[in-house]
Amino acid sequence: MRQSNLFTKTRKEAPADEVAKNAQLLIRAGYIYKNMAGAYTFLPLGLRVIEKINAIIREEMNAIGGQEMVMPSLQDSALWEASDRWSDENVDVWFKSELKAGGVVGFGWTHEEVITDLMRQFISSYKDLPKFPYQIQKKFRNEMRAKSGIMRTREFDMKDLYSFSATQEQHDAFYNACSEAYMKIFNRLGIGSQTYKTFASGGAFSKFSHEFQTLAEAGEDVVYVNEAKGVAVNEEVVKEADLSELGVSESELTKRKSIEVGNIFSLGTKFSEALDLHFTDEDGIEKPVIMGSYGIGPARSMGTIVDLLSDEKGIVWPESVAPFKVHLVGLNLEDAATRDWVDGIYASLQENGIDVLYDDREARAGEKFADSDLIGIPYRVVASKKAKEEGTFEVVKRANGEVRRLTEQELYGDFDSNEDT
Ligand code: ATP
Ligand code: MG
Repeated sequence: MRQSNLFTKTRKEAPADEVAKNAQLLIRAGYIYKNMAGAYTFLPLGLRVIEKINAIIREEMNAIGGQEMVMPSLQDSALWEASDRWSDENVDVWFKSELKAGGVVGFGWTHEEVITDLMRQFISSYKDLPKFPYQIQKKFRNEMRAKSGIMRTREFDMKDLYSFSATQEQHDAFYNACSEAYMKIFNRLGIGSQTYKTFASGGAFSKFSHEFQTLAEAGEDVVYVNEAKGVAVNEEVVKEADLSELGVSESELTKRKSIEVGNIFSLGTKFSEALDLHFTDEDGIEKPVIMGSYGIGPARSMGTIVDLLSDEKGIVWPESVAPFKVHLVGLNLEDAATRDWVDGIYASLQENGIDVLYDDREARAGEKFADSDLIGIPYRVVASKKAKEEGTFEVVKRANGEVRRLTEQELYGDFDSNEDT
């Protein structure tokens, strides 16, 4: 992509009303636009990041048997009345609207009711189980506070997977597989070392649920952590549970701020009983299906990555989610021969399968480097008149500032394997 074609621009200052660091940086670098409190546009660069995050989530969900689909946002009140989650007294985040044809619809803030009803069409026997449908789909929530940038918005995509099992063993096996898949996802997103599978209260159907909490000063949540033992417990559990069964005592735990990037929850038969999702087991006995739900917020994860990995100059993307691998910064482009040559380097990088953003604007070197640091693409390749004459390129690794000089051939090879040379 040529930077001169991007309709977005970097900016020196974030809007005054934007208090969250993740959103300040993402707005300044041209990844997102704040339309109003709690509602953001993902601009071309931002969408590339979100799609890379989604691709990682999809790979890991598919690897454990997940099957993707998409359910509607508009919600039929009757389904939610069956589970007693339609009233505003019971659920404080509903957005609802009148239908011109008469009646009311809700805007989905989660999908247990919808999917339980839907699965009645497809599950009748133990042979139909287990099943693991999921979606990456828009949720609407009338959140009171929307001050954490893209980490808490009123409209956001969620990956929500639901498990349908015949037995507790089947359910537990998937619950554990999903928990491992979540850690793989957060590792691949570059936030794994700071992310803890955290004991949270489990509701009526299991002792605990689990939140995936990333330690961060910008977090809205609080967790109690023992880093050496790798144990984390949320506030509710610290107050209410016997911690000895978790292998720690309260005095061994340190209070930390954190961001809930995902969670997994055993639902038991709450929804299958309320919405009549039953199956016949091997002995011909009718039973309610055992369910679980498993959420991740792609945008909240993106905000967490920015919050954790940025430095004073701007964003530092891990390669796995960066919008491009290489930022080709062209200098001296007012010189026609140099411009032709840099255009050729750009074409060759693409031919060699390298995702590249080409800063082909005629601007001062200092301005281009500052923008490049702000945008945070993993490798900056400087292509200037001098590079043309010398036949080597300065390559700067954004994460640690490491500078290397590579020949044109080396440039088209694998950057990472050159790392130690
Ligand atoms: P929180 O306690 O932070 O409000 P939650 O318990 O409501 O989160 P879930 O309903 O389990 O969260 O949603 C699953 C995931 O969706 C969360 O782990 C988070 O990553 C993401 N998420 C939840 N609410 C929002 C929001 N308002 N904006 C962006 N992402 C969200
Ligand atoms: Mg919430």
